[in-house]
Amino acid sequence: MDVELEDRVKGKDYKCRECGTRFKGIGKKPMCPSCQSEEIDPA
Ligand SMILES: [Zn+2]
Repeated sequence: MDVELEDRVKGKDYKCRECGTRFKGIGKKPMCPSCQSEEIDPA
C-alpha cells in the first residue's frame, strides 16, 4: 500500500521508444521494465 502511494506521488508516466511499453518511472533516469532501455519519452 505505502509503496503504491509513493509511486503515485513521485512516479511519472513514460513510454519506451524501443518496445512501446508504458510505465511509471521514478527518478531522473528511469528504465523500461520490459527491455531495460533508457530510450524513453515522457507520456
Ligand atoms: Zn522497452
